Amino acid sequence: AAEEGFDLEEVEGAIEEAGHGPLPVVAVVGRPNVGKSTLVNRIIGRREAVVEDKPGVTRDRVTYEAEWAGRRFKVVDTGGWEQDVLGIDASVAAQSEYAIEAADAVIFVVDATVGVTDTDAAVVKLLRKAKKPVVLCANKVDGPSGEADALALWSLGIGEPHPVSSLHGRGTGDMLDAVLEALPDAPQQLFGGPGVGGPRRIALIGRPNVGKSSLLNKVAKEDRVVVNELAGTTRDPVDELINLGGVTWKFIDTAGIRKKVHLQSGADYYASLRTAAAVEKAEVAVILIDAADSISVQDQRIVTMAVEAGRAIVMAYNKWDTLDEERRYYLEREIETELGQVAWAPRVNVSARTGRHMEKLVPAIETALAGWETRVPTGRLNSFLGELVAAHPHPVRGGKQPRILFGTQAGTKPPRFVLFASGFIEAGYRRFIERRLREEFGFEGTPVHISVRVRE
Ligand code: GDP
Ligand code: GDP
Repeated sequence: AAEEGFDLEEVEGAIEEAGHGPLPVVAVVGRPNVGKSTLVNRIIGRREAVVEDKPGVTRDRVTYEAEWAGRRFKVVDTGGWEQDVLGIDASVAAQSEYAIEAADAVIFVVDATVGVTDTDAAVVKLLRKAKKPVVLCANKVDGPSGEADALALWSLGIGEPHPVSSLHGRGTGDMLDAVLEALPDAPQQLFGGPGVGGPRRIALIGRPNVGKSSLLNKVAKEDRVVVNELAGTTRDPVDELINLGGVTWKFIDTAGIRKKVHLQSGADYYASLRTAAAVEKAEVAVILIDAADSISVQDQRIVTMAVEAGRAIVMAYNKWDTLDEERRYYLEREIETELGQVAWAPRVNVSARTGRHMEKLVPAIETALAGWETRVPTGRLNSFLGELVAAHPHPVRGGKQPRILFGTQAGTKPPRFVLFASGFIEAGYRRFIERRLREEFGFEGTPVHISVRVRE
């Protein structure tokens, strides 16, 4: 490395950074209008104004990457939803519960100008039960005169209120310091970042009515064991152990699949929050698509969520029993144009109704997990890169030819590579390298991260 103009420390630093495991997750919870979305925007430094006047807006995403004091983490935004038929307390409880479950730490937002409400008290109960570290954000303290309102929130009994103005940024830095302190050094391994032992964790996801619960019932038969069924609680069973192909798998959040939630509004939002929480906890996402229906933006969002979370992915096209020849023709075109971002994922064409190709599901999952865990030895990677760069050099720009000098795999689950280069490597060339890496080493069923370091 030294001859190539990178010093060792620089190389090691880059490898460590690229190889980071799963990021810790911070959930922002609280009742409507306390300023959760405003706070999330501030934390992630989002420029566009996404705080909507209209409540109940469905967001594309609920999980964002953020950084504070050099530490990266994910933020789960539970703003942007609406009270529904369940009543406000139940809605707040439901959305908070999903978010808290997936989180390593929680920011509980209270409107200090309003003070403690019954709904706030209900959230406190959930927080106590979940035993996650909590940072109390006393929001809307826009100036010194509001500090007294913040102090009143000691009465919640969950520790120090941090006076914050999400709108103006006042106090957010101190609060984020407290959040970082509350975060465990490594993300929770209980439900799991990737890398935990025990049964492999599967999230079965897809938009409503694609056949998730039908598929689950088909594969589970009588053979299931409910985990997380805490004695003496009324809590829904969340995860189930299911034996498939002689192997025990843990299906994440099956309660969310089995129990049909009837909500007048905000149902899509709940669904996406629940999906995001399940994906965070899983190693592999089985994404179910209704093959009888046109591939929709919602399908694409779910796929994007799983790709961005860096999970192994299997694409399952359901309701195959209903397809005629014409639909099959158009389906293939749609897959090509709409789902190109997961062209590398193993695919099964199934019918939860007839049981068609159920036996192909497990091999597909195993293939995806194998790709996800692939490690390419540095020597092999570099001989491959050397040949590639010699045969297909980067285009000359401004009289110079940027070159990939060497590379290494910094991590797995999913595979992460760092390439060291003599100049700026264009996006097109990066994609070309990813394509060739896949051709050479497989990586079936897994996203692949490539970062490039340029020599000064
Ligand atoms: P959410 O429903 O909890 O996500 O709340 P929003 O982020 O949508 O905020 C609700 C309202 O409170 C909006 O009109 C915000 O502009 C306002 N708001 C949020 N944070 C602050 C703050 O720190 N100070 C003041 N004065 N208003 C705020
Ligand atoms: P979920 O909302 O994703 O859990 O979807 P469900 O499992 O509730 O299925 C939605 C509807 O599609 C139900 O009426 C199912 O009977 C039907 N369905 C599910 N899988 C299949 C399938 O493979 N073939 C056919 N023809 N219908 C299916």
